[in-house]
Amino acid sequence: MFRNFKVVPRIVFGRGSFDQLGDILSEERRHPDSRMVFLIDHVFSGKPLADRIPRESGDMVIFVDTDDEPKTSYVDQLASRIREGTGSAPDDLPDGIIGIGGGSAMDLAKAVSIMLTNPGSSADYQGWDLPGNSAVYHVGIPTLSGTGAEVSRTTVLTGPEKKLGINSDFTVFDQLVLDPELLEGVPLDQRFYTGMDCYIHCVESLTGTFLNMFSQSFGEKALELCREVFLDDPSDSDDRLMMASYFGGMSIAYSQVGVCHALSYGLSFVLGLHHGIGNCVAFDYLEEFYPDGVKEFRRMMKKQGIDLPRNIVSGIEEEKLEKMIDIALVLEPLWENALGSNWKEKMTRDKIRSLYLKM
Ligand code: NAD
Ligand code: ZN
Repeated sequence: MFRNFKVVPRIVFGRGSFDQLGDILSEERRHPDSRMVFLIDHVFSGKPLADRIPRESGDMVIFVDTDDEPKTSYVDQLASRIREGTGSAPDDLPDGIIGIGGGSAMDLAKAVSIMLTNPGSSADYQGWDLPGNSAVYHVGIPTLSGTGAEVSRTTVLTGPEKKLGINSDFTVFDQLVLDPELLEGVPLDQRFYTGMDCYIHCVESLTGTFLNMFSQSFGEKALELCREVFLDDPSDSDDRLMMASYFGGMSIAYSQVGVCHALSYGLSFVLGLHHGIGNCVAFDYLEEFYPDGVKEFRRMMKKQGIDLPRNIVSGIEEEKLEKMIDIALVLEPLWENALGSNWKEKMTRDKIRSLYLKM
């Protein structure tokens, strides 16, 4: 079966396009006392961007905590807070959820918009195509680029038992506002880690066994843009990075990621490392699988003056190491994409253990 995947239907792109948000939302406000809910990364609390939100009376602006990657418990808490603020009858639901921030804030917006129309806890929907009802209209506005969360059909959540997304057509944003000006002010190391998420998406997609012309076309363009951004530092690098993230996300939508992402999920779950930095920590030890990609990654790291954290796994308790291996091994499609259908012969628990112990 070929994947019949949904893409974001409406996109505006351009410097200053954030100021068009009010007009875009006015078309979605169903009646005079309609409400929108803005979930904006707490880093913008008290910053000019927060004052530029086209807020109308009755709208809610919630500064979301992104110190930890999104947890199912936090999504549930946000959904109840919104229901309390707006009412929970179908007619009382907000007309839109707008996520403004990096992958974390955007994923929170995606998950909350699903949980407002589906019963239970978000942990019940970690998996594939589990929500039965379509989500509240939701908009993604990245302020940090690389994850591809703006285009993907998943919202990655850490639940009580697993780190796994709510993968569904209902997850996909209804609208994107891609305004490269919003990337200004991102700390350089964070910009690099999240940007490398995109670079690694491309390397894993382009070298994977699931590759096809659809993924290759998007992946090659995204890779080229990443090279320009992190090796040449052009003056419009934020525009390029924003489009690289989008194209990289489109590339993996029709292929898959690989070894680095599988190992990075284990690092996040057990050590709480954020996705971008976890990928960088893992990728540096994967020359055996991605020789050209890792060499180029090191050149980018040098050019950008980044020092990776080291020795974060050595000395860890055995139980935690075992859990990390379990988390990585569950991600079978990633291993299959990277190593082929006989991946189990190549990637044993011992091999994963030895890779982790280098980090
Ligand atoms: P993030 O959203 O976790 O943000 C990292 C840090 O950058 C935070 O402290 C945040 O406050 C700060 N930040 C964001 N924008 C800023 C700005 N303009 N200026 C200053 N600081 C800013 O980082 P991320 O790498 O974008 O996202 C990681 C998350 O995305 C993880 O939870 C990961 O699981 C998820 N993810 C989702 C997908 C998907 O397809 N849904 C794909 C990859 C990763
Ligand atoms: Zn990623």
